[in-house]
Amino acid sequence: MDYRARIRRIRANLEQERLDALAITHLPNIHYLCGFTGSSGVLVITERDAVLFTDGRYTQQAHEEVRSARIKIGRKAALVTAAEWIARRSALLRVGVEAAYFTVASQESLRKVLPRSTRLVDATALLVQLRMIKDTEEIARLRSACHLGVKLFDTILETLRPGATEAEVAGALEFEARKAGAEQMSFPTIVAAGARSALPHGRASREAIPARGFVVCDFGVILAGYCSDMTRTVHVGRAKTEAWRVYEAVHGAQQAALDAVKPGVVVGEVDSAARKLLKKKGLAKFFTHSTGHGVGLEIHEAPRIAANQKEMLQLGMVVTIEPGVYIPGKFGVRIEDTVVVTETGHEVLTPCSKQLMTL
Ligand code: ZN
Ligand code: ZN
Repeated sequence: MDYRARIRRIRANLEQERLDALAITHLPNIHYLCGFTGSSGVLVITERDAVLFTDGRYTQQAHEEVRSARIKIGRKAALVTAAEWIARRSALLRVGVEAAYFTVASQESLRKVLPRSTRLVDATALLVQLRMIKDTEEIARLRSACHLGVKLFDTILETLRPGATEAEVAGALEFEARKAGAEQMSFPTIVAAGARSALPHGRASREAIPARGFVVCDFGVILAGYCSDMTRTVHVGRAKTEAWRVYEAVHGAQQAALDAVKPGVVVGEVDSAARKLLKKKGLAKFFTHSTGHGVGLEIHEAPRIAANQKEMLQLGMVVTIEPGVYIPGKFGVRIEDTVVVTETGHEVLTPCSKQLMTL
């Protein structure tokens, strides 16, 4: 990863936003800008300098991971060490902070150290905008993570059977993910069977898979720092007509949204492409979440693909397309792919059959 180029891009933005310094506290953003993956740190970028503040637990790790910034190991909390460093430099009057990730307590500890003349400015959007467009190496890593996810779906198919618990299926999947090199899962694995499939975020529980019904499987791995995300819904036992009808409607809606993905399209239109199709089938009221989200170092990134969102799809964005229908007390269906926006449209990073599978 070319971390130096990313810091250069930040510097160009500092000037534009009339900021003397940017104090990055959101850990994935620190990772993005200098490669540091520790759990405590603040990265301060000024016109001429870039300094990562962390503590003694990370001395070795920081020196191994970080090339694009100087490293300062402090005895106090990283935020206090960073604030003291800023306070000693009287030219740093306007300091950008990430208000969206900043607690009231953090702000108070900063204010205690910084001189009154220092102004804190919300610069959350800066990194959100930068990270939204993935470079070639990021896309390669996302592709690898997603392809691993697709391979792991086979483990689900092997372990999923009536009587097995949702947790057993998720556990087998997670064990295989680890063996294949995944650092961790992108989020708690969802295996939601029978009536539980109507819970959009039904984390794998100790409930057994019933003899008949849908099973929503939504899972992702983190490989080389990047997240994968995909959902497939399978059916245990013979599916009734209503189940088929709903599955085909969700499948159609997902395809309609996918077909809309290309550079220049407003994300709200992608969302409405899916919603329109479900409306025709009388199912729109059961589609209770947004159509998708960006994926990268974090599982949920910009842009959010939802009704009336104005962000425009651009080359290099990586997003999920995941409409679902959830009929309370009965069942739910969701189908999700992760795609990268290409010049002509998109590439599906999670190629895997979407025909209704009955097990
Ligand atoms: Zn998902
Ligand atoms: Zn998702």
